[in-house]
Amino acid sequence: MHSKSPVHAPMDQFATRDGELVVGGHKISALAARVGQTPFYAYDRSALRGRVAHLRSALPPQVKLHYAMKANPMPAVVQFMAGLVDGIDVASAGELKVALDAGADPAEISFAGPGKRDPELLQAVASGVLVNVESMRELPVLAAASQALGLPARVAVRVNPDFELKGSGMKMGGGPKQFGVDVEVVPEMLAWIAREGLGFEGFHLFAGSQNLRAESICEAQCKSYELALRLAQQAPAPVQFLNLGGGFGIPYFPGEQRLDLAPIAANLAALVERAAAELPQAHIVIELGRYFVGEAGVYITRIVDRKVSRGHTYLVTDGGLNHHLSASGNFGQVIRKNYPVAIANRADAVPRETVSVVGPLCTPLDLLADRMELPAAQVGDLVAVFQSGAYGASASPQAFLGHPSCLEVLV
Ligand SMILES: *Cc1c(COP(=O)(O)O)cnc(C)c1O
Repeated sequence: MHSKSPVHAPMDQFATRDGELVVGGHKISALAARVGQTPFYAYDRSALRGRVAHLRSALPPQVKLHYAMKANPMPAVVQFMAGLVDGIDVASAGELKVALDAGADPAEISFAGPGKRDPELLQAVASGVLVNVESMRELPVLAAASQALGLPARVAVRVNPDFELKGSGMKMGGGPKQFGVDVEVVPEMLAWIAREGLGFEGFHLFAGSQNLRAESICEAQCKSYELALRLAQQAPAPVQFLNLGGGFGIPYFPGEQRLDLAPIAANLAALVERAAAELPQAHIVIELGRYFVGEAGVYITRIVDRKVSRGHTYLVTDGGLNHHLSASGNFGQVIRKNYPVAIANRADAVPRETVSVVGPLCTPLDLLADRMELPAAQVGDLVAVFQSGAYGASASPQAFLGHPSCLEVLV
């Protein structure tokens, strides 16, 4: 408690009551009883709603907010988010189905991703969604689909820019990338689109993910805007959508703090003003996944054993890496660090012992908390892993080692 080592940001998006974590208005033990099993993920509606409202109040009203549903594709979550945001970004025909089922307006759905298969492109044209084109190969397929269906092919060009997003957890633009079309090739692509009469609507740029540095995000947005403005001069039609990407991060690890939105809001306000003069038909879009949903979710797993091995205490839970690969440190992290973890039914208790929380898999990779100070916990207690609303269940190898899969609830 008195150490100077970095600590996790406070997980104050959730209240506690009678010493228990409260999610969706339920004390965690009552919620576990209602769900009927552990492990499970719980996503809190009011936290999701609050997050969107917070972003809307901070950013200029002209900026359109899209939810990148790969962060959390649970149909109930997508449906809930579709009612709050301005559009949904999908990255497969499977996600497209979930977005359409959720009632999202096809006019406000965009479809990005490398390796779109021909039938997926046909489905996109048939659905009337915007396709973010990432390869020359997609163009004739879209033209043929448009002709066969008698429907326009709505396209935007996803540009692989000639810069990178500094401080980003995962870089998805700049240098050689499988994403988007190198900026050098974009003029040729625009000429093809014009010649074949595809419905050009704009540009998409996505520099990277999980960034907690507002200045880096502002810099990427400015560079993206400049690039799009330059490319727009060669476009066959006015830019209607200018998707500047996202990359807004959330604090996962000790020492990380929540993103400061104020500089980003000021930067976007300046870009909105420029766009009004320079690209008068363009809507500026930002697309966010984890920033919307990550902090609103917890993973709950129950302690099934408490073991001491040569003086080190292990709390062994009924789920781990198989449901929550990213909290185990195996989803793209270079150095493993602990997510914020609590004993959810002893939330008010003061940390009294240093333990490791491990899952039930027969691999040392199955680690949820490595030497963390936690309240003394017993078999039957519930462990909460915070910051778990994004890249959880759908991004984990549920079949690995044959344990039961987890449930997900929206409360
Ligand atoms: C994954 C992805 C996102 C969402 O990233 P987050 O870090 O969850 O915000 C947005 N846009 C594209 C193109 C993506 O691939």
